[in-house]
Amino acid sequence: MFDKLFSPFKIGACEIKNRIAVPAMVTNMPTEDGMATEQYIAYHEEKAKGGFGLIITEDYLVEPTGKGYKYVAGLWSDEQIESHRKLTEAVHQYGTKIFCQIYHCGRQSNHFVNGGVQTVNCSPSPDPWNRDMARELTVDEVHDLVEKFGAAAGRAKAAGFDGIEIHAGHGYLIAAFLSYHQNHRMDEYGGPLVNRVRFLKEIYDAMRSNVGDDFPIMIRISADEGTANGRDMGETRVLAKMFEEWGVDAINCSNGVYSSFNDGIIASSWKKPAFGAQRARELKSIVNIPVMAVNRINDPLVAEELLEDGYCDFVGMARASLADPHLPEKARQGKVREIRRCIGCLQACAGHTYRQIPTGCLANPEVGNEYRYTFDAVPKKRVLVVGGGIAGMNAALAARRRGHDVTLWEKSDQLGGQFISAAYTPGKGEYSQYVYSLIYDMEQAGVTVELEKEADAQAVERFGADKVILAIGAIPREPKEIPGAAGNEKVLYAEDVLRGRVNPEGKIAVLGGGSVGIETCCYLADAERGDISLVIRRDVVADKEDRGKVNFMRHFCEDRFVHFLFEHRIGALTDDGLELTHQGETKLLKADWYVIAMGYVPYNPLEEQLSHLGDRLVVVGDAVEPRDAEAAGKEGFEAGYFA
Ligand code: SF4
Repeated sequence: MFDKLFSPFKIGACEIKNRIAVPAMVTNMPTEDGMATEQYIAYHEEKAKGGFGLIITEDYLVEPTGKGYKYVAGLWSDEQIESHRKLTEAVHQYGTKIFCQIYHCGRQSNHFVNGGVQTVNCSPSPDPWNRDMARELTVDEVHDLVEKFGAAAGRAKAAGFDGIEIHAGHGYLIAAFLSYHQNHRMDEYGGPLVNRVRFLKEIYDAMRSNVGDDFPIMIRISADEGTANGRDMGETRVLAKMFEEWGVDAINCSNGVYSSFNDGIIASSWKKPAFGAQRARELKSIVNIPVMAVNRINDPLVAEELLEDGYCDFVGMARASLADPHLPEKARQGKVREIRRCIGCLQACAGHTYRQIPTGCLANPEVGNEYRYTFDAVPKKRVLVVGGGIAGMNAALAARRRGHDVTLWEKSDQLGGQFISAAYTPGKGEYSQYVYSLIYDMEQAGVTVELEKEADAQAVERFGADKVILAIGAIPREPKEIPGAAGNEKVLYAEDVLRGRVNPEGKIAVLGGGSVGIETCCYLADAERGDISLVIRRDVVADKEDRGKVNFMRHFCEDRFVHFLFEHRIGALTDDGLELTHQGETKLLKADWYVIAMGYVPYNPLEEQLSHLGDRLVVVGDAVEPRDAEAAGKEGFEAGYFA
């Protein structure tokens, strides 16, 4: 089934057992001093155990002020070698190769994380995300950095890495030098491409002289930066041929920089699977060194096809490796249905990165906890989980994997809870895969599931569980603060709209500027339901969401003429319409339907009735406090694991 995927291939002199690589991802797991931690090593080791042929680490620093996040690995000093040797030894136990990615973040940082110094860049410019203004590097500083890159490469070899990846993509310092998007210098490092590539060439030469000719060095670039003045395939083709001439061993073909709003670096489900593969194919057609394709390659079937059809020599499956670090081994054994898929939500990978906390994954609550979840046998208990949403299903699965007898009661006729409606929004169809996986895994694990089972305190008592996990969820917030809304037949709830229980048409006002509000607008606009307005109290929409995703949703809505009413306070709903106040002026919005998307409130009537159970009772998920699905799933998983 996967002949190509599991055929060995070489990068330089290094033979890799299969074509499946984990490209670099920031973990926020090393210490602030760039040392590998137990958590960081276990995180990578799990992927090696799961059969990945090649792991490319996150971006190792060449100097401590070159970091874009607080807890990033580094090899700027000899003292760091030993901790990273433990990492390479752990990974090598499974026959997996590990390359060290080396970078400098350039302007894509801020003084809160880099030791309080001003950020540096090829030319002075502010980073669109971090806002800090970077200063221009002097030529002497450029030369100094070249030496530091070379020294870091030597340390990587000493630490037992099998190769190096120079990060020359995603808008970081080397990428900045390469592109007119950021490089406005007028010296030998700016202007024509032969000058803009000089910094990278000097780094490559310094590294090569420190590691020798037979040590693999690959280069990661953004083939298309997706910005004004950014590089696209025109110059990237030239660069690729230069790399081959220099003796570079492979090219990792990515896309995007920070100012293209994640359009390639960390893409959400709004981007199609394998969307960057065409550019990798173009590079592969003009060079004779291995090319790696990345960008939302989440399925081994897609990966095999890319290899078979000559798009690339390696597939980089980054977020797929978070969702399921055992993806290669499951694919090899033909257990494709058992693979947990990345659904492109960005809740815990990108989301945690921005918050400077260890990376995680909505689809896999074990990420970041590999070092503390052992699944050792524990005395068997009878566990009852009430509620079949994301928290409840994760609780049931974790408890079952610990060896407990687990029963799950769900009052509706379907598992998935609120997460079911998430998949109905344009751009989020893949979300249904997660619910599917949880249901499938519970079946395989032997969890007893009872649907249409309403739980009351007596029924729970009669069941006689050693542990009761309440994961009853939340219900939509009623618009009590809107006089005239209660009982009004023109008032609907977003959840009912998204689940197709109601079918509004005509003039529709969606009330609430969070994720559900704009997603409901996308849904209604996509279905051409009429003239749609989104009423937002603040000056920003969906501020807790990844900005790349919000960008997609805004463009989607704007292309379909959805009206965004920012900074509008909602007043009473009368027969004449909805009273709105904007900048001190009151006006009326007359609509056929008013869709409430104002968040959720916990629904947990059983907790008090069962409080006498003491520590035999635990409440998890939205029943505690409505949050994103990742937090709910993780809390459920922990409750089940420690049941
Ligand atoms: Fe994929 Fe979401 Fe997991 Fe990130 S958090 S790896 S986007 S499933």
